[in-house]
Amino acid sequence: SKIIIAIDGYSSCGKSTTAKQVAAHLGYGYIDTGAMYRAVTLYFIQNHVSCTNPNEVSKALSEISIEFRLDENQKNNTYLNGLNVEEEIRKLYVANRVSEVSAVAEVRHAMVDQQRKMGKKRGFVMDGRDIGTVVFPDAELKVFMTADPLVRGQRRQIELMEKGDLLDLEEIMQNLKKRDLIDTTRTESPLKQAEDAEVIDTTYMTLDEQIDQVCILASY
Ligand code: C5P
Repeated sequence: SKIIIAIDGYSSCGKSTTAKQVAAHLGYGYIDTGAMYRAVTLYFIQNHVSCTNPNEVSKALSEISIEFRLDENQKNNTYLNGLNVEEEIRKLYVANRVSEVSAVAEVRHAMVDQQRKMGKKRGFVMDGRDIGTVVFPDAELKVFMTADPLVRGQRRQIELMEKGDLLDLEEIMQNLKKRDLIDTTRTESPLKQAEDAEVIDTTYMTLDEQIDQVCILASY
């Protein structure tokens, strides 16, 4: 029978690439919760919403609608108020603000509510920071991914380069470090390993090995 697979961990450990492939392999759905926080952040940037002004935050959240749609190549695209923002939300100026926005309690409550609704039908892989701890604490399989920071930075650099964004490693490492710090220390559902999570350190693993390992765990 179909299960819920929660994949959490630090930024750029290979969570989303692994989650996507595992989902494809098992014929499951895939939900990228980071994309939702990125879309909210893009809206906040575009509309100059202040994270410290509760009225502005509530108003903004009431105006935001986030959806995922598959394109003709079966690629998942994130839509913000009907517009495809998949490319925009991956840019560094969004990544530089996303942890600040994600730390706002009201933002988290709104996203977690929506994620639980998206997860009504079993048989999906969801990746993020708080899936196994907060969103679906009863998930049958919880994976916590880690990797050496330098390796994560190098992987992110290649990923951005493939999209035409040439950035130096130092700048990327700073962003990763800053996000890790905010994500692990915020008061509302900080990033942490669930007690019953399987830890996968991907430092010396290939993508195929990561996918295999999660699929094996899912088959128990
Ligand atoms: O996974 P990704 O790197 O796209 O996530 C971007 C950011 O969104 C994270 O650094 C974190 O601040 C936030 N996030 C979160 N909770 C989640 C998923 C992402 O706080 N479940």
